[in-house]
Amino acid sequence: MSEARLTTNASTRLYGIFGSPVRHSLSPTLHNALFQKLGMNAVYMAFEVQRDSLGLALEAVRSLDMGGVNLTIPLKEEALNHVDEIPEDVDRCAGALNTIVNRGGQLHGYNTDGPGLLAALAEELQWRPAGKSVLILGAGGAARGAAFALAHAGAERIWIANRTEERAQGLAEHLEGFFPETEIDAVADASVLGAEKIDLLVNATSCGMRAEDPPPADPAAFRKLAAVYDLIYNCGETSLLRSAKKLGLPQANGLGMLAAQAALAFGLWTGRTEGVREQMLEVLRACKK
Ligand code: NAP
Repeated sequence: MSEARLTTNASTRLYGIFGSPVRHSLSPTLHNALFQKLGMNAVYMAFEVQRDSLGLALEAVRSLDMGGVNLTIPLKEEALNHVDEIPEDVDRCAGALNTIVNRGGQLHGYNTDGPGLLAALAEELQWRPAGKSVLILGAGGAARGAAFALAHAGAERIWIANRTEERAQGLAEHLEGFFPETEIDAVADASVLGAEKIDLLVNATSCGMRAEDPPPADPAAFRKLAAVYDLIYNCGETSLLRSAKKLGLPQANGLGMLAAQAALAFGLWTGRTEGVREQMLEVLRACKK
């Protein structure tokens, strides 16, 4: 896909993404395409920012009067120490921010990953969390946003499995404090798949980003599983999704969530929401061709 051609002048509003690594990010393509489609005088750029310089980088958002930024690996949790306000309770509790809005020098922090996941699940799999059981693989920033959103939306049972088990335990304990009505357990691995009826498997690990990665859970154990969502979006179909497809399970990759979380951030910055997610999804699908 050809990049959107941008014209800038002295009134152009600057947005961006901070993270490391950040050069692979599709966010500049997405947001710039929408600024252009909607005739807005704004530009979105990617900035390589390490955790120990996030404070300085966010100070620049204030001093340069940027409209806002997205945050990616490894900054989502550290951001809590640098914003002025976190308006949504669920974002404050989740403890990971991916969107900063600059309102007159006050930085407001949000997490649009969780709501983006819920929107993608509803749209692509017609799947809603209330009363359901979910196995989440991973305990990093994305898993944290996913787990909070699923529990907040009424999931009845959540298992969390992670390569580093203590991180899964830490996340499960943190969640339990906020959602006493959801049964939440850290498990050593994904073997619970063979033993329990599970309504949704969510891969929130980075395992699958490279073509040679094995599936993050053994497909032989999928017989009691109802659906699969893989947050990974960089390579079309992961081996996890291929296995799910072979078994005839409803499944989707992370492109829908990427578009939905970006559209929510775009709405927070600009107030423009109508048709934004659909147009972003179109841009993403064109990039992947
Ligand atoms: P992160 O904070 O760095 O966490 C990475 C997670 O993956 C950790 O739980 C880590 O386990 C696990 N992991 C890494 N390599 C693994 C391997 N080889 N085998 C098993 N587990 C492994 O990253 P993140 O921000 O949570 O992102 C995770 C994934 O979600 C990435 O692929 C990212 O692109 C995707 N994502 C997608 C969206 C979307 O909109 N679709 C949004 C956010 C993130 P340890 O704790 O043991 O290290």
